[in-house]
Amino acid sequence: MPSDCLFCKIVEGTIPANRVYQDDLCIVFPDINPQAPTHLLVIPKQHIASQAKAAAEDTPLLGHLLAVAADTARRRKLDRGYRVVLNTGDEGGQTVNHLHLHLLGGRPMTWPPG
Ligand code: 5GP
Ligand code: ZN
Repeated sequence: MPSDCLFCKIVEGTIPANRVYQDDLCIVFPDINPQAPTHLLVIPKQHIASQAKAAAEDTPLLGHLLAVAADTARRRKLDRGYRVVLNTGDEGGQTVNHLHLHLLGGRPMTWPPG
């Protein structure tokens, strides 16, 4: 794992985050700059730089992250819907190079995204 990776530091605990869920494979915590009433990040404990860098063997882990996002949305009672976003690369809007899902909810979402 790169020593300068912000989200690896959150996984290690050297940068604090309020973990609302964690298991062997991932953690969930609030985004520091929320874009919706609910804005959580679901990140693997393992460093994967982006979706574009994920290997075939990471496929079960990626599925797990989606399942955790859905479970979290149910726990948060986002019954009217929510959005999961996976920004990838510069043009995809990725600013932290450690793969993460955004779970956004609590307001109507617009389309297309910016
Ligand atoms: P990206 O733009 O890479 O898809 O998303 C990165 C997200 O990480 C942004 O929404 C940003 O607000 C969030 N973020 C950046 N630094 C921190 C931090 O130190 N703590 C938390 N909780 N979120 C962060
Ligand atoms: Zn990392």
